[in-house]
Amino acid sequence: MIIDSKKYNGKCACGHEHKMTTEFCIIEVGCLVNIDKYIEKCGLKGHSVAIYDENTYNATKQIHPKVDKEIILPPENLHADNHGVALAKELMPENCDYLIAIGSGTIHDITRYCAHEKGISFVSCPTAASVDGFCSSVAAMTWDGFKKTFEAVAPKIVIADLSIISKAPMFLTNSGFGDMIGKFIALADWKVAHTLTNEYFCDTIHNMTMDATKAVTESAEAIKDGDITAYENLIYGLLMSGLAMQMLGNSRCASGAEHHISHLIEMQPEGLGVKSDALHGEKVGVGTLIACREYHRLKDSNLKWNDYHQPSSDYIKDMFGEKLNGAIVAENSDDCALGITAKLIEEKWDKIRNIIDTVPTYKELIAKYEILDVKSKLGDIDVSEEKLDALMEYSPLVRNRLTLMRLKRAIKNI
Ligand SMILES: [Zn+2]
Ligand SMILES: [Zn+2]
Repeated sequence: MIIDSKKYNGKCACGHEHKMTTEFCIIEVGCLVNIDKYIEKCGLKGHSVAIYDENTYNATKQIHPKVDKEIILPPENLHADNHGVALAKELMPENCDYLIAIGSGTIHDITRYCAHEKGISFVSCPTAASVDGFCSSVAAMTWDGFKKTFEAVAPKIVIADLSIISKAPMFLTNSGFGDMIGKFIALADWKVAHTLTNEYFCDTIHNMTMDATKAVTESAEAIKDGDITAYENLIYGLLMSGLAMQMLGNSRCASGAEHHISHLIEMQPEGLGVKSDALHGEKVGVGTLIACREYHRLKDSNLKWNDYHQPSSDYIKDMFGEKLNGAIVAENSDDCALGITAKLIEEKWDKIRNIIDTVPTYKELIAKYEILDVKSKLGDIDVSEEKLDALMEYSPLVRNRLTLMRLKRAIKNI
């Protein structure tokens, strides 16, 4: 399968002009063998450096592309952080015209950060269907202990070899499955925001992400059986989700309440008392089930609404403590839900209920999780079940983005 950006670029019915920066993605069995041909096709020339970790170096050892230098990073404690970047930079030759990332999310973030710093392009070769960030134009890094999103570069092309991806460890595949299923919530949140505040919305981007998400959901059984087409659906969905973000210019179509739950856990705020080493997609997968159950509960409840009001800085400080308080207060200062009245919510509630119906029920989703043994409970990601209410209450504050979870602040008596 080939994803050609030309098909998606240009004027859209939504009135915007969309542009993918990634030129094309090849998703095929054995396509890594032809990487030279694809690199030539996209016009990259000169000195090349491939970045691996030891695991991905071994997983691809029959088909390493010919490059001027190979950088093989140690996988132990390798993270997308200043340490990981320093390791790569230490080994990076002065003379380098483009980079090739051969690995999963961490290798990609380190590579895209270095490529941006050097002002050069990079080629993405995912070795596992573990995350939707391969096509991202930003690098999500931990810098001196803080989560930070850096401006970086999106890959010029993606070479996704299914013979490698389908042999990746199952926990990586399951993580990608969780990241992808989360789009049901993200897309519903986007639609809810559009309904309430007329936030910009694009049907094309919504529908391409939704179609890819449904295809992945339906592939659970076949992924378990190692079916190549099912892996193709999964990596296609993850790449498409990243490309949809490129078209949109932000992550609205890929990240809603479920990602905010994951981010809150990662931030480890003082008032929450959690620490989880689970993978991004594992946390998103658990966050998705939490949001799914809650959204359907809201849909079926007889709710009374207040006008929305902004959380106070004292309230924020109680959870986020000295260290994170400033950043979270700043994030919420221009609250996206401010001005939403009880009257408006009541007027739109039937529409919102219809939107919630686009999210599969908890029962439907958990059945898919169970097929693959995807992590589904807070306990599976080392977070106590007692933290559930706090996660739902405070997670919307990590990002000033209107979600149904944020809107809950306007429900009377909760
Ligand atoms: Zn559009
Ligand atoms: Zn994600």
